[in-house]
Amino acid sequence: MLSESVQDYLKAIYSLRHENERATTNALAARLNVTAASVTGMLKKLAELKLVLYEPYQGATLTPAGEKIALEVIRHHRLIELYLTEAMGYSWDQVHAEADRLEHAISEEFEDRISTLLGHPTVDPHGDPIPTKDGEIATSSRDTLDTVAEGSRVRIERVRDEDPALLREVADLGLTPQTVVTIGSRKDGASLTVYLADGQSRCISARIARNIFIIDAP
Ligand SMILES: [Zn+2]
Repeated sequence: MLSESVQDYLKAIYSLRHENERATTNALAARLNVTAASVTGMLKKLAELKLVLYEPYQGATLTPAGEKIALEVIRHHRLIELYLTEAMGYSWDQVHAEADRLEHAISEEFEDRISTLLGHPTVDPHGDPIPTKDGEIATSSRDTLDTVAEGSRVRIERVRDEDPALLREVADLGLTPQTVVTIGSRKDGASLTVYLADGQSRCISARIARNIFIIDAP
């Protein structure tokens, strides 16, 4: 069994790469809230374990073995988030921090039972895909609401889940996953108007728009 900290590093490298960012020492230090020196030490250890490849200018990448572990931890995390909202009455802004702790603790048996209990779900409460037990994961959109042209119709696929305050604002605006919106006008690059299916408008800040991922809606 690998330590919590190893699992957190693998998960952080996975998410940085998924966001098309390089998993450099500084990026990992910022993401994990640790010093650059501890990142350097850990990357050396992960390279010895053959979970990570490290090149100074490229940053860290996961080997297939490292990616398998990252996806396993992400599966735990997202199943736990969904279990907390569906079965325990948590709201979607409360589950990320709980899942960050619990993801390391549950057994394979526990994971299987949650999955069965929830009917083998494929997305978590924030719209993120849940990897399968075999480590397959559906692709998810990297296009954010702030990049969409006026007049387009899009469906909200997922919302970045690290910031509870942001999730509460998004829920108050009614912009949860699966909602279809039409893009209205933009005020000098700052705020953006979107229209819901019932014609109601919402004015949203650029910061919120950058954290909402969308796909084209027919
Ligand atoms: Zn989530």
